[in-house]
Amino acid sequence: MTKAPHKQTRIVRAGIGIDTPFQSIIPPIYLSSTFQRNGIGEPAGKYGYSRICNPTRDILSDAISDIEGGIGGCITSSGMAAITLILHLLNPNDLLLAPYDCYGRTMWLLRALAKKGHFKLKLVDQYSETALNEAFTEPPRMVLIETPSNPVLRIADIKSIVNRAKAHNALVVVDNTFLSPILQNPLTLGADIVFHSSTKFLNGHSDIIGGAVIVNTQELLDELDLWNNSLGTIGAPFDSYMILRGMRTLEIRIHRAEDNAQKIADFLENHANIEKVHYPGLKSHTGHKIAKKQQNGFGSMLSFEIKGTYEQTKLFVKTLNIFALAQSLGGTESLINHPATMTHASMDKKSRTKAGITNQLLRLSIGIEHVDDLINDLNQAL
Ligand code: PLP
Repeated sequence: MTKAPHKQTRIVRAGIGIDTPFQSIIPPIYLSSTFQRNGIGEPAGKYGYSRICNPTRDILSDAISDIEGGIGGCITSSGMAAITLILHLLNPNDLLLAPYDCYGRTMWLLRALAKKGHFKLKLVDQYSETALNEAFTEPPRMVLIETPSNPVLRIADIKSIVNRAKAHNALVVVDNTFLSPILQNPLTLGADIVFHSSTKFLNGHSDIIGGAVIVNTQELLDELDLWNNSLGTIGAPFDSYMILRGMRTLEIRIHRAEDNAQKIADFLENHANIEKVHYPGLKSHTGHKIAKKQQNGFGSMLSFEIKGTYEQTKLFVKTLNIFALAQSLGGTESLINHPATMTHASMDKKSRTKAGITNQLLRLSIGIEHVDDLINDLNQAL
């Protein structure tokens, strides 16, 4: 079958027309944990046991891999399971360079595993040329990038980090959760591995936890597949079905949410009670130019600081009617999060301060509601 030129067409049609027994339009969910063999010593079919391989999971990994520009991938039970899987590529003496301001639970995991001696860890300011030059004086085995960063949306220059990493044969891994494969494709910028918390934009409806790791070589895929099978970090067939169902509308959801986010960022930037807005789509954002170069859009995540006290920040959130106070992001509904006490609470205070996470910082995940309603809600609370 010839491949449709547009991602939008390919996601909508992923898996359609492959159900030979009944010709169902949408592919069924294969919940079976095991598959019958023809006889002892006889050649086995593609599927034997669902921890190793499952048809529903395969449709999803092919679909995500297709729109990320990879050769294949592994579906995991969560975004954290995806990172766990990737970290198993490292040996005890391997150096991992990671951003000093990554997602709080990622930071916790990296530090905890490094402490146990699984690998060596160096936390780096990936937005500074000087810091990168210094970090690369010791050759790394892997470089982890999270761009835009969570929660202050700093932008790391993927191509420039890839060039440094390749000089040392190091693997480049990008957490693409904040943008989705519609707005950024790190593999096409030279990265080796891209991963997602598919809990977020890919599923898009805040009703599934899932993850995905997409790669650009068969060798990496085989190694990660073996770890996914051996660690049991695999995603469930039902969850895979739900994520694929959500992905069919990813492109339209993300563009609507992004339009809303740009308007909300403009509104907040001009409001007297706001200290600072972090949104890569604003010209005032330090990463605006790089974001414009390496992304296909600025996304629908933004954060801002209230001009006021912690108590006033709490009151502001309580006064909102539409934005719900909840962690997570990328759903159809708009959410507000207080990183210091929620998503980044597992980070120690010193690291939080260094990462720019104050008590007045709030992060918004903009949904697909009517933008006027969202702006009015923020306005009345401010
Ligand atoms: N990466 C980023 C950027 C995240 O925001 C999150 C969760 O919020 C994760 C990874 C972990 O994903 P999950 O919650 O699906 O385990």
